[in-house]
Amino acid sequence: MRVSASRFRSIFFAVISLTAMAAHADWYHREAAIMGTRIAVELWHEDASEAERAIEAVLGEMRRVDALMSHYKPESQLSQINARAALAPVAVDSELASLIERAGKLSALTGGAFDITYASVGYLYDYRAHQRPTDEQIEAGLGAVNWRHVVVDPKDSTVRFTRSGVRIDLGGIAKGYAVDRAIAILESHGVRHASVTAGGDSRIIGDRFGRPWIIGIRHPDDADQVIARIPMIDAAISTSGDYERYFDEDGERFHHIIDPHTGKSASKLRSVTIIGADATTTDGLSTSVFVMGPERGIELIERLGDVDAVVVKSNGKVLYSSGLAPP
Ligand code: ADP
Ligand code: MG
Repeated sequence: MRVSASRFRSIFFAVISLTAMAAHADWYHREAAIMGTRIAVELWHEDASEAERAIEAVLGEMRRVDALMSHYKPESQLSQINARAALAPVAVDSELASLIERAGKLSALTGGAFDITYASVGYLYDYRAHQRPTDEQIEAGLGAVNWRHVVVDPKDSTVRFTRSGVRIDLGGIAKGYAVDRAIAILESHGVRHASVTAGGDSRIIGDRFGRPWIIGIRHPDDADQVIARIPMIDAAISTSGDYERYFDEDGERFHHIIDPHTGKSASKLRSVTIIGADATTTDGLSTSVFVMGPERGIELIERLGDVDAVVVKSNGKVLYSSGLAPP
């Protein structure tokens, strides 16, 4: 029997495409804009539709966390706290109460450098409109900035403020938290190689083609220039910089990381990158060390032991914690 060339070709391609459908192990990517930032998911999967399902679940989770914790959305539980917690305890999901409690622990650990009540003054800044508060306005609002004004009752899952004028904002920790939630979801889908990014916060599962993932830390003044490459397997990394949301006025930079003790943009560093096991921790610590500055910040990182830091000083000098320093 003779098989014509064209018939042979069609059998050949049918076999190829069947194989492809049965086991199409590949990398799958998706990007989306959620939580006011760029979300990127990349994962390895044997099955295309399973991969898509896992990605959808991740994006759905990001939207859920945003709806719960956004301070832009008046209907979010976080906004409900800001509207009413000075009058009476506000009942919230235990998940939100726990994250607010965790933020309080980070405040205690960092001597108040991390403080979600920074927002009592922070809301007066509008970086897009180049607006900032006057010294008088900062002075008037600063009394409300203190993490001890926020009282969480984990038993009743309520949050209250001890005085009026307090506002909270989880912008320094919520993206890292959302990344951790995303990673938990991917693990529950059986994913073993993945990366999830929300703005400056990323976490990695497994390796990439048998090698570590390489995460670049950008130059504070040039998004295309990389100052360090960090190899990572099963780890989280967060960067805080003064170039994310800012405006310059008379040579001074006003940006989105506020020193709770002054109500003004923290100016001791240009950027801080933290590497650790989970993104909630690295996110919170990157904001914290940015406020604390190089000496106290690195000292905290060395004391914690299970995290590392790369900081870029105002003069451009790059410092590494001892876990990253060359041997
Ligand atoms: P990004 O949001 O660019 O990833 P960060 O993780 O450093 O950067 O978080 C900065 C955000 O943290 C700010 O936009 C604000 O919402 C919040 N924030 C600013 N200052 C503080 C502070 N001292 N403590 C806690 N949160 C802060
Ligand atoms: Mg942060």
